[in-house]
Amino acid sequence: MSQAMLTRRQLLKTGALALTAASGLAAASQPIAAPRPAGTLSWRNWSGSQACRPQALDTPADEAEIARLLRDTTGSLRCVGAGHSFTPLVPTEGRLLSLDRLAGVTAHDKTALTATVRAGTRLSQLSRQLDGLGLALRNLPDIDSQSLAGAISTATHGTGAALPALHADVTALRLVTPRGEVLDCHAGTRPELLAAARVSLGSLGVITEATLKVVPAYHLHRTVWLKPVDEMLAAAHDLARQHRHFEFYYLPFTGYAAAICNDLSDSDSVLRPPSADEDMLHSLRQLRDYLGRFPDLRRWVAQKLIDPQQTEEARDRSFKLLSTSRPTKFNESECHVPREAGIACVREVIRKLEQRNEVFFPLEFRFVKADDAWLSPFYQRDSCSIAVHAAAGEPYDYLVGEIAPIFRKYEGRPHWGKLHGHTAVDFARLYPHWRDFLELRRQLDPQGRMLNAHLRSVFGISA
Ligand SMILES: Cc1cc2nc3c(=O)[nH]c(=O)nc-3n(C[C@H](O)[C@H](O)[C@H](O)COP(=O)(O)OP(=O)(O)OC[C@H]3O[C@@H](n4cnc5c(N)ncnc54)[C@H](O)[C@@H]3O)c2cc1C
Repeated sequence: MSQAMLTRRQLLKTGALALTAASGLAAASQPIAAPRPAGTLSWRNWSGSQACRPQALDTPADEAEIARLLRDTTGSLRCVGAGHSFTPLVPTEGRLLSLDRLAGVTAHDKTALTATVRAGTRLSQLSRQLDGLGLALRNLPDIDSQSLAGAISTATHGTGAALPALHADVTALRLVTPRGEVLDCHAGTRPELLAAARVSLGSLGVITEATLKVVPAYHLHRTVWLKPVDEMLAAAHDLARQHRHFEFYYLPFTGYAAAICNDLSDSDSVLRPPSADEDMLHSLRQLRDYLGRFPDLRRWVAQKLIDPQQTEEARDRSFKLLSTSRPTKFNESECHVPREAGIACVREVIRKLEQRNEVFFPLEFRFVKADDAWLSPFYQRDSCSIAVHAAAGEPYDYLVGEIAPIFRKYEGRPHWGKLHGHTAVDFARLYPHWRDFLELRRQLDPQGRMLNAHLRSVFGISA
């Protein structure tokens, strides 16, 4: 391996962005005009780890059509957004419902700083439309391929010690219940329903629209640098306090972590060095392929190749820096632990991961502020989020089998859209409103139309 293959700049990039991405719209997300014969449809998620053969794929054009569909049909039904969840939230043998045709901002108020958005809108489209209106979302996840409804339904988040997950900015939403009734969920009129529906895993009905708090459009300045991992762990909480967005990636078997900070910028000039993310990921994989059986040598070689003095700077509109793309597919598990336990937990996770020589994907560590949605993993808890990944096509069972016990030990609440081994018993203990949510779900959907096998297991409901 040549020095050029593993320059620090590439490592920085890998650390910052290396988890490859791609839009990865699954088959179900493509609008299909006419019904096709039963059994001929197939759907799979972004990473290819989940699949199903639904009876029908519906792509309604408006809320009235959704209400009619729910009233006029029987049997099970699941919503799909962009198919970017790793857990089997979407697979169904019944009907699959895509809101791809319900997209775009329908109203906005620049004084109140709110925007009303159709549920099928992709976050990328939403950011660009808001930008055209001089507005922006407060924060964004690593990628912006997700649908708005899919993102909020699983408590999708970015990073920032003072910034909550996306659903915390939802002030109202419209929900079509499994009986076809349209409910306006608003903090003033139905606070409990809103608290439940904001993160509801597609189990309470079909979300057709959400009103979000937004902020004036802003620019960010990004700085990326490398530090030995122990120094990064010691500095992480201070860095999170000092920067609007802070996260780090640990680069396995190198001893280094990459810090990524994004802060408000007064300048609207754009500075975008070319991305070397894929090259870096490729280099980490090659180190694993060539030296995986010799972890000490692998670490020694990595440390010789990394130049820890380099930094990377970028400036751009907020949404262009906060979200990126991930061409290399992977499977992922992520857990949110109480803020004060974050560093102790990630130390154990790193130790456990590095007992497996096949690991090469960076580990991601982020900060998320507490909120009050009933099934939010951040419910009344400022959190640190720890995410572990394995390349698609490689074994990934250990992400849950070996790492989940550590997350459990630290009272971690798993990301709803990422692989986990938690059970209904765990959730009942971790979520103060768990039983309230289950009761509301039972009232709205007594026949369990919106459930699939995964949700029955998560909720502890027998078939
Ligand atoms: C490459 C990649 C990067 C990621 N980065 C992040 C990240 O930075 N932060 C993070 O928190 N997560 C991240 N995720 C996870 C992802 O954000 C979540 O899994 C999210 O739910 C995916 O949105 P989606 O539109 O694909 O929803 P889907 O996966 O299609 O569906 C998710 C859930 O939403 C429900 N749903 C969808 N539409 C509706 C609707 N209209 N009404 C009711 N329910 C509905 C579905 O039934 C399902 O339960 C990432 C995933 C990938 C693949």
